[in-house]
Amino acid sequence: MSETDEPQAAEREIMEFEVVIVGAGPAGLAAAIRLKQLAAEKGRDLSVVVLEKGSEVGAHILSGAVIDPVALDRLLPGWRKMGSPLNTPVTEDRFYYLWKTGGVRFPNIFMPPLMSNHGCYIGSLGALCRWLAEQAEALGVEIYPGFAVTDVIFGANGEVEGVITGDMGVARDGSHKDSYTPGIALTGKYTLFAEGARGSLSKMLIRKLGLDTESGPQKFGIGLKELWEVPAEKHKPGLVQHTMGWPLEDKTGGGSFLYHFGERLLSVGFVVHLDYANPYLNPFKEFQRAKTHPLIRSHLEGGKRIAYGARALTEGGYQAIPRLAFPGGALIGCAAGFMNVPRIKGSHNAMLSGMMAAEAVFAAIEVGRARDVLEAYPAAVQASAMTAELKKVRNVKPLWSRFGTRLGVMLGGIDMWLNTIFPFLGHTLKHKKPDYATLTKASEAKPIEYEKPDGVITFDILSSVFLSGTNHEEDQPVHLKLADPSIPIERNLPEYAEPAQRYCPALVYEVVEQGGRTLFQINAQNCVHCKTCDVKDPAQNITWVPPEGGGGPNYANM
Ligand SMILES: Cc1cc2nc3c(=O)[nH]c(=O)nc-3n(C[C@H](O)[C@H](O)[C@H](O)COP(=O)(O)OP(=O)(O)OC[C@H]3O[C@@H](n4cnc5c(N)ncnc54)[C@H](O)[C@@H]3O)c2cc1C
Ligand code: SF4
Repeated sequence: MSETDEPQAAEREIMEFEVVIVGAGPAGLAAAIRLKQLAAEKGRDLSVVVLEKGSEVGAHILSGAVIDPVALDRLLPGWRKMGSPLNTPVTEDRFYYLWKTGGVRFPNIFMPPLMSNHGCYIGSLGALCRWLAEQAEALGVEIYPGFAVTDVIFGANGEVEGVITGDMGVARDGSHKDSYTPGIALTGKYTLFAEGARGSLSKMLIRKLGLDTESGPQKFGIGLKELWEVPAEKHKPGLVQHTMGWPLEDKTGGGSFLYHFGERLLSVGFVVHLDYANPYLNPFKEFQRAKTHPLIRSHLEGGKRIAYGARALTEGGYQAIPRLAFPGGALIGCAAGFMNVPRIKGSHNAMLSGMMAAEAVFAAIEVGRARDVLEAYPAAVQASAMTAELKKVRNVKPLWSRFGTRLGVMLGGIDMWLNTIFPFLGHTLKHKKPDYATLTKASEAKPIEYEKPDGVITFDILSSVFLSGTNHEEDQPVHLKLADPSIPIERNLPEYAEPAQRYCPALVYEVVEQGGRTLFQINAQNCVHCKTCDVKDPAQNITWVPPEGGGGPNYANM
C-alpha cells in the first residue's frame, strides 16, 4: 500500500532493483557511485537506480558554490584529473559586516579555522552533479531524469518497499489526457531519500515515522542566486566574499555571497533565514537591494546577468538531525540536514552521508538482509568527522536567532573558537520555534519600502523567473496544495498581509481583486521548486508536492 492508501493501479509497471535512490543531487549520486564501487571491489553486480524530477541531472540544483573537496577526495581520489568542472581553487577570502554605505572587514585571523575557504573550490554544483552522474553511469548506475517520485510503498509491517513515480498526462481537473501514463513502482531492498532541503517524501516520512521526535524542528533559509558574466578586467577567479548586516535589520539573519570562478563567471546570492519576523519582508527584493551596496555593485558593473534561481537550505544543524534510518530506508544529504550554516556549505556533507549510507546498505545486502533498519548508517554518521564538524558550529544559528546579527555573530564566533579549542564542551542550545511560527502580526509590523529595479543591477521578479528556464505543463493539477483554500484570504491576509505574496521568489502567489472579490491566485507554472512556501506559511496550509516529472526550473550552471 502507498502512503496515499490508494490501491496500486493494476496496470502500473513494477521495476525491481537492489537499491532505489530518490534525487540526483550530490547525496544521491555519491551514494550510487559508492555502492557500485563496493560491488566492483567484491566482483559482484548490484542494481542501483537514481530517480530525478528535473528534466536532466542538475536542472534543479542550485547552490553557491564553494565546495570543500573532502568528500570528492574520498569518493573519486583522482577527480582533479578526471575532467571535473570544479577547477577554480579559492585564492582570497573576504568577510564583511555591512551598513548602507560601507562596511568593515573581519580580519581572517579572527575567524575560526573551520571558516576558512582555503583548499576549497568554486564552481557550479549543478555542473558537478552532471559530471558525477557521468561517473555513476560509467559504473552501471541507471539514472532516470524527468521522473518525480510522488509516493512511498510500504510493506505489511510498515517497512519501505520502494517508491512510485508520478502519473504523467493528468489534466488540471484530474481527468486523464490522451498522453496519460501511470507512474512506475520501483522496489528495492533499501531506498535512500536524497531529495535535499524539505524533500516532500522526506517530510512525509519524518512525520509518519516520528523521525524528529528527539531532534525537534528543522530550521531553514531561502537562498536566492544570480549568475553573472563580468568583464575580464573585473574577474578575479578564486575570490570569495561573504557579507552580513545591511540590507537586513539586525534581528533578521542572513547575508550575501559572491564568488568569482570559471570563465568570467560570478555567482552572487543572498540568504534570508526563514525565522524572520516581519511579514512585509520580501527576500527577493532584499537580494536586489543588497546588490546596490558599493562592495557588491562594484563587482557587477559592466557585467550581464545570465541566470536566476532560488532554493531553500537547511539551517538546523547538528541538533536538528532527525533519526536517519527506518525499516527499508534512510535519509541522506540535506533531506536530513547536514548543512554547516556558518560555512554555508552542505554539499560535502551531503556526499559524505550518501557514502556512509551506501556502505551500510552494501554491508547489509552482502549478508542477505533487506528492508530492515540500517543501524550502521547512523552509527557511522555519529562517529564521523562530518558530525564533529557540525558539533563545533551547533550553537551558532541559535545564537544568531536569539541575539541578532551584531551580537549573535560575535557570540557565535566565540562559541566556535571554544568548541574548536575544547571539543569536549557539551552545551547545546536548542532551536526555539519552527520557522512558520516566527511572524509577528501585520498590525504590529512596519511595512518595508523597496526601490524600483533599475534593470541594470536590480531586476523585477518576472524577468528573473524567465532566466530560471522554468517550465511546467500547464494543464496539470496544481502542485501547491492548500489544506483549506479559505485560509489565505480569511486568515493569512488580515493577520499577516498574506506573506506568500512576498516570500515566494517566483511570484507564484498573488492576492487579486476580481469581480469585487479578493482571491488568492496560484501561478503554479512559475514555481522554481524552492520549497519556501511549504516551510514558511504561518498556517502550515500549503503543501508542495512534485508536479509532473521534467517540469520546474532548467538551471544550466547553478
Ligand atoms: C543559495 C545556496 C547556496 C549554497 N552554497 C553552498 C556552498 O557554497 N557550498 C556548499 O557546499 N553548499 C552550499 N549550499 C548547500 C548545498 O547546495 C546543499 O547542501 C546540497 O545541494 C545538498 O545536496 P543534496 O543532494 O542533499 O540535495 P539537493 O542538492 O537539493 O539535490 C536533491 C535532488 O533531488 C531531486 N528531488 C527532490 N525531490 C525529488 C522527488 N520527489 N523525486 C525526484 N527527484 C527529487 C531534486 O530535483 C534535486 O536534483 C547552498 C545552498 C543554497 C540554497
Ligand atoms: S511556490 Fe513555493 S516552492 Fe514554488 S517557488 Fe514559490 S515558494 Fe518556492
